[in-house]
Amino acid sequence: EPIIRFEAISKRYPNGTEALKGVSFSIEAGTIHAICGENGAGKSTLMKILFGLERATGGTIRIDGQPVDISSPRAAASFGISMVHQHFSLLPSLTVAENILLGQEPRRGLLVDRKAARERVAALAARYNLEADPDARVAGLSVAAQQKVEILKALSRDVRVLILDEPTAVLTPPETDELFRRLHGLRRAGITILFISHKLGEVRALADRVTTLRAGLLSGDAAMGDISDAE
Ligand code: ADP
Ligand code: ADP
Repeated sequence: EPIIRFEAISKRYPNGTEALKGVSFSIEAGTIHAICGENGAGKSTLMKILFGLERATGGTIRIDGQPVDISSPRAAASFGISMVHQHFSLLPSLTVAENILLGQEPRRGLLVDRKAARERVAALAARYNLEADPDARVAGLSVAAQQKVEILKALSRDVRVLILDEPTAVLTPPETDELFRRLHGLRRAGITILFISHKLGEVRALADRVTTLRAGLLSGDAAMGDISDAE
């Protein structure tokens, strides 16, 4: 049974744009699943629906076979769905540890127990093999290092599914290779990864399965070994 199943998902925005026109496919637990397509194909819309930032106007999402209502990012979190945004959400004047603890306890305000935060970051970094200096200020980090902190922040909640929206857009080729190694590590740790990309080429090296959207419709859904070079 798939961890996530999209059934005939459609989305019409209030201005009339039909971003998704009945999209159905499944995501198997413990896989790296890429969602590809040109800009405007509907990838972000589908992920926003899964993360509770937009409501579908038709269709059903199932998690572990059960139909679910994902009405907010909070609801998504309760299903173990977490997202690393294209535009990062870190507070630059705070440290890595403070940012991660804030991500975990969004209602607690800015008062953070530094020792607890450091220990939490060290434990997470060790568990997922993502090294990070808990005391570094985010403002001083490279974009790639900030992305790593975003990933740690997402993983600091109870995560089963991690969504990354165009994560390579801000990375150099060597940083992209490093990210891909990290994502393979997360898969080994049991995390299901949803990877959004407009570059089919780059996901060949990464994904177990690729779903392709075109103008709001499914145009491909195949295991990586089955994708021909004609695409
Ligand atoms: P992708 O992520 O594949 O680039 P999007 O999901 O962002 O695609 O966009 C799909 C379509 O929906 C595009 O035509 C886009 O212009 C439109 N769209 C996205 N967000 C909105 C919105 N908030 N209101 C109206 N149209 C939108
Ligand atoms: P895009 O895919 O268009 O590059 P994002 O996916 O990062 O951009 O964000 C899309 C929209 O969702 C933005 O308008 C942003 O303000 C909003 N958004 C991003 N993250 C969150 C969040 N955690 N909670 C609520 N809204 C968010």
